Amino acid sequence: MFDKVLIANRGEIALRIQRACKELGIATVAVHSTADADAMHVRLADESVCIGPPAAAESYLNIPRLLAACEITGADAVHPGYGFLSENARFAEILETHNITFIGPTSEHIRTMGDKIAAKETAKRLGIPVVPGSDGAVKSDAAGLKVAKAMGFPVLVKAASGGGGRGMKVAKTAEELPMALATAKAEAKAAFGDDAVYIEKYLTKPRHIEVQVLGDGQGNAVHLGERDCSLQRRHQKVWEEAPSPALNETSRLKIGEIVANAMRKLKYRGAGTVEFLYEDGEFYFIEMNTRLQVEHPVTEAITGIDLVLEQIRVASGAKLMYSQEDITFSGHAIECRINAENARTFTPSPGQITYWHPPGGLGVRVDSGVYQGYRIPPYYDSLIGKLIVHGKSRDECMMRLKRALSEFVIDGIETTIPLFNDLIRQPDIANGLYDIHWLEKYLAKPTA
Ligand code: ADP
Repeated sequence: MFDKVLIANRGEIALRIQRACKELGIATVAVHSTADADAMHVRLADESVCIGPPAAAESYLNIPRLLAACEITGADAVHPGYGFLSENARFAEILETHNITFIGPTSEHIRTMGDKIAAKETAKRLGIPVVPGSDGAVKSDAAGLKVAKAMGFPVLVKAASGGGGRGMKVAKTAEELPMALATAKAEAKAAFGDDAVYIEKYLTKPRHIEVQVLGDGQGNAVHLGERDCSLQRRHQKVWEEAPSPALNETSRLKIGEIVANAMRKLKYRGAGTVEFLYEDGEFYFIEMNTRLQVEHPVTEAITGIDLVLEQIRVASGAKLMYSQEDITFSGHAIECRINAENARTFTPSPGQITYWHPPGGLGVRVDSGVYQGYRIPPYYDSLIGKLIVHGKSRDECMMRLKRALSEFVIDGIETTIPLFNDLIRQPDIANGLYDIHWLEKYLAKPTA
């Protein structure tokens, strides 16, 4: 096991990782920018190193500075959290050459899954169902048109290096396709320095359902069920729940087993998430995230498994502690992402938190890196906390969520709590009847 882990992240996830390290008896190193000197993850770590100015490129994304921080503190492993360098294959490689363990998959797996065309080909080879589409990159308008016509419109043009919903364009008709290809290519080139694009069938009313996996790199892997993350705004998840209200036991176990088998064949190491769109009873692979996800606590709530602790264990070379038969699912969990944003316009609202009262009680978990008096810096993601609620059934979970939201008080800044107070009162949400477009449509209504 490791002696000292450096956490290359900030905010709630840095704290989350510290907690797992502490329970394992591992010393922790926090890194921070000058804007985060007062952050909770710095206060609670055993040691901390300032790695640069506020701009992420000069601090949290700066590999030489992170390496120097490892060197100074003698850390023998790095946990990247999510975002920042968590899916950077080069970072994983560089750490390995310095004999520092990257707590995550091999750089080869990160690289394969980071390229969406390669990821889709790999998924197909491993027996995972994928969205129908072009075989690899689309090189010309004529080639694109041929694929699209064979599949039928509407189609979606996607960037091979895409992420965060960028470089994606819908073409409803053949006439719209050349423009969609050109704009997606230009956007992809500007955002990712790679203009490779491919075409997929555009699904009109899918749900976003993702399967959590855990592997030890030695051929053992389990799935920990699914999460439904269909409530999205601009392709950003807002609310996540497990199990999905749209699946039954048979479809859940079927897709879980397909994914777990694929991970066994791949000899995947660490935590990973295989994302699908789900429409009319069919699953379609869209991508794999080779890291811990923001929404991992809903899976922890229904399985009782500490995902971060398992990530650390398997990274240290240990075998997976569980076989698939050991994994049981209990009750229902929902996570609300609390952002420092206006709940209507989603304009960021940095500033000082003058009063902070998080909810508590049975089945309520709050993961956050803020505290009363804390000043939220304007430089980073606006996520300030996650409210995770667990109940025996979805109904109990919803009741508890309503109660927990009513206790949550955050003064001094605007937050997205009012949005969740509205959502829990919507019949479609109460009944679990929503697809990936539901939230955007709801927000577009003048009465929302
Ligand atoms: P990114 O990595 O940019 O987030 P994804 O491939 O994960 O891209 O897709 C993000 C979101 O875009 C999905 O959750 C879904 O809402 C939408 N999407 C992606 N592919 C399709 C598709 N073929 N049909 C309809 N919607 C899609």
